[in-house]
Amino acid sequence: MFKKVLVANRGEIALRVIRACQELGVKTVAVYSEADASAPHVREADEAVCVGPAPSSQSYLVGERLIEVAKAMGAEAIHPGYGFLSERAWFARAVREAGLVFIGPPAEAIEAMGSKTAARQLVIAAGVPVVPGNAEGVKDADEARAIAETYGYPVLLKAAAGGGGKGMRVVRTADELSAALDSARREAKNAFGDDAVYLEKYIEGPRHVEIQVLADAHGTVLHLGERECSVQRRHQKMIEEAPSVAVSPELRARMGATAVAAAKAAGYVNAGTCEFLLDRDGQYYFLEMNTRIQVEHPVTELVMGLDLVQWQIRIAAGEPLPFQQTDFAPRGWAIECRITSEDPTNGFLPSTGRIEYLHLPSGPGVRWDGGVEAGSDVGLHYDPMLAKLIVHAPSRSLAIARMRRALLELTVDGIETSRGFHLRVMDDPEFQSGDISIQWLEQRLGTLTSPTADRETLQLAAIAAALVAHEERSGGRVVSPAPEQGGSPASVSRAGSGWAAVGRREGLRS
Ligand code: ADP
Repeated sequence: MFKKVLVANRGEIALRVIRACQELGVKTVAVYSEADASAPHVREADEAVCVGPAPSSQSYLVGERLIEVAKAMGAEAIHPGYGFLSERAWFARAVREAGLVFIGPPAEAIEAMGSKTAARQLVIAAGVPVVPGNAEGVKDADEARAIAETYGYPVLLKAAAGGGGKGMRVVRTADELSAALDSARREAKNAFGDDAVYLEKYIEGPRHVEIQVLADAHGTVLHLGERECSVQRRHQKMIEEAPSVAVSPELRARMGATAVAAAKAAGYVNAGTCEFLLDRDGQYYFLEMNTRIQVEHPVTELVMGLDLVQWQIRIAAGEPLPFQQTDFAPRGWAIECRITSEDPTNGFLPSTGRIEYLHLPSGPGVRWDGGVEAGSDVGLHYDPMLAKLIVHAPSRSLAIARMRRALLELTVDGIETSRGFHLRVMDDPEFQSGDISIQWLEQRLGTLTSPTADRETLQLAAIAAALVAHEERSGGRVVSPAPEQGGSPASVSRAGSGWAAVGRREGLRS
């Protein structure tokens, strides 16, 4: 096992990796930007090195600098987390060439799966079903129109280098194609420095179901079942579950075998994920392979009972997987909500400021993978995801009830978050029925984020706050000491939250 690992990331995933290392008895080196000097991941690591100013292009993305730091600090391996440098083949290669271990797949596997078009060709050769489309890319609008005719509308334009839903356009008629192609190219160029775009059939009403794969360096490739990630906004996941209501043990075995075949075709080692669209007839189509740990990995950990990040590290250190495929069947149900600094009542506008108070949910079956604490400043330099709230329960309905309870326990004061939105999803009868597709959230968004209802709850919370204040003044139940009674600054901010807590208890705040 390694003695020391450099964690080339920030926020919740940096903490997640540090925790995995601590349990394995591995020392950690954190890196941080000037904006993150007091971030929790910096404090939790054994050592920490500032690598540049706030913009990630000058800090977390400067691969050469991170490799230098790893060598100078005596780390033997680098864990990239997700995002940032995690899927840059050149970085994985540079780490290897520096005599260090990249905790992730070989650079060649990242490359093989890095381009959606190349990946399609690779997996088709391995017998993996893909969405009908042209993997060669489209030259111009005329060619795109000709290809679209062969599949029939609607079609989907996709950036070959795509990720995060960028450079994607649904095209419903031939008239829209030319303009959509131009804007997809522009967006792809801006996001990935590559304007290659290709075209595939747009599947109506499918689910997004992905399969977790784990491969060691000794030829064992296993799958760990599926995650249901259909609750998406603008092609970005917001809520994930394991297992999926739409996947029977038989379908799990088939999709799992397909994912294993795709991973083998790429010479894959370490943890990876094959994303599929699953249509209403039970047909599934490979979308892409994510060659890193995913944000939503905890739901798999909870139902399968293993630590994926620890296995990433152990595989990178050369350990063989001691499991067989038959060791894995999902137990119970897990749900994850992404807690972001966005205002759902205002078009998910990013919210910035200081987290004045943070009360974390706890109790049976609740897990918080976070990267912030009270006092953290949330700015615009980085991803708005602050934390993931994950629950595990014996059944889906109990998991939904548990998530609802955990969301009610959570208080984040000082910035807007997606908490209230998640609560409404948990309360939504359609979500509860499980009959959802990747279009479901966009269609339902109006109901789930209506500001009218929120104004009502805010008013009720204000009334509750006033009642509590009155009660305190008149010598009744004291929620928390006021400053003039000798309360510390910390307890002053708690007073604000005491009101919120009462509002919450009464079910008034969402
Ligand atoms: P990215 O890498 O940008 O995330 P993906 O290929 O993974 O792009 O697709 C992101 C999401 O877009 C999927 O989860 C799905 O919701 C939707 N999507 C992708 N391809 C199709 C398709 N052919 N038909 C319908 N929806 C699609």
